[in-house]
Amino acid sequence: MSQYKNILVAVDLSEDTTSILRRGRAMADPDGAELHLIHVIEPLSFAYGGDIPMDFSGIQEEIHQQASQQMLRLSETHNIDAQHQHIVLGKPEVEIHTKAAELETDLIVVGSHGRHGLALLMGSTANGVLHGANCDVLAVRVGQDK
Ligand code: AMP
Repeated sequence: MSQYKNILVAVDLSEDTTSILRRGRAMADPDGAELHLIHVIEPLSFAYGGDIPMDFSGIQEEIHQQASQQMLRLSETHNIDAQHQHIVLGKPEVEIHTKAAELETDLIVVGSHGRHGLALLMGSTANGVLHGANCDVLAVRVGQDK
């Protein structure tokens, strides 16, 4: 079985996160591998910026703080270095690709929900990550349909 040396696990901090992280860890080379976590925060201005004349900086800061706390707890539970936790602003699939290239990862791990109908047509983060990735991508089936 092939094992990976430098793994990037993309987490949305939902209830599926632990199982995705465990799958990522299981793919790691037992002789030594780096495991990185990334959580991407989408700027509220992406969704509402043009439409609502409002300052989002306070809410955005609050979201960032909560994400940092969750990442810290996750990393403590799963024994992941502080330098291996990445919280970035942007579009998830774009930032996941950018971080994977920067870290020269050989595997990206994402969750994948079984989708039907319109949701399937609209795609998913897992789809977006798969297209254009320069390394292997493991899509871990999560959610009720798995
Ligand atoms: P989705 O397609 O949005 O249901 O997300 C599927 C998977 O994509 C999640 O289980 C994560 O692995 C990854 N993902 C989605 N959103 C984010 C995010 N904001 N930051 C990092 N990874 C994400």
